[in-house]
Amino acid sequence: MEKREQLYEGKAKKVFATDDPDIVIVDYKDDATAFNGEKKGTIVGKGVVNNRMTNHVFRLLEKEGVPTHYIEELSDRETAVKKVQIVPLEVIIRNIAAGSFSKRLGVPEGKKFRQPTIEFSYKNDELGDPLINSYFALALELATEEEIETIKRYAFRVNEVLKAYFLQADIELVDFKIEFGRFKGQIILADEISPDTCRLWDVHTHEKLDKDRFRRDLGNVEEAYQEVFKRLGLD
Ligand code: UDP
Repeated sequence: MEKREQLYEGKAKKVFATDDPDIVIVDYKDDATAFNGEKKGTIVGKGVVNNRMTNHVFRLLEKEGVPTHYIEELSDRETAVKKVQIVPLEVIIRNIAAGSFSKRLGVPEGKKFRQPTIEFSYKNDELGDPLINSYFALALELATEEEIETIKRYAFRVNEVLKAYFLQADIELVDFKIEFGRFKGQIILADEISPDTCRLWDVHTHEKLDKDRFRRDLGNVEEAYQEVFKRLGLD
């Protein structure tokens, strides 16, 4: 497979064409942003952690019946993936209250839910990714009813697999954001699953091991990414 021209540069990744029109190469950067791009910085080594962690998790999810865009890890920062059309929805699953949920609903961070929640945001930077529901998604023609049902089913399945996966590393999966794409008419998991897109807390101390350390200027940001990497046996 041959790497060709850059197609796109996002906040955390670059995407390159290949000689195969169905395959693109993602290249993970160390750049970090928060609050819709208002806060910018660098987290040294983040690109490697996020690339290797996402690939490991996506291979696990494939085995557990969730189709993903993953094809092959090419280097520490580069991975070949299926070229999908991204469904413009951010799908968020929560097991424990935190972040915008706690703020919006006045629930203290750390309150465990009896059942996980699901929510959708409309992926639109200009509007600041507004919270919507599945009827809004249908009205805006972001996805079909069948696609939304599939997305919900896969999202809860991802949660079950990931909760168990992190727990064996003494990590609690508080919440996470995933994105899906369409490939040859099918919905598959795309984008990434990493400390940028998950809230991960130490089971015993509840220490934050994710991007909240960057968002909230808590310090030891690099160390937290490396700690997750090490605990998951990816180093
Ligand atoms: N999240 C993300 N990208 C976003 C917004 C949220 O990856 O643009 C992740 C975030 O890291 C957390 C979960 O989704 O794991 C829920 O985030 P929340 O809605 O609480 O928003 P935040 O507090 O991050 O603004």
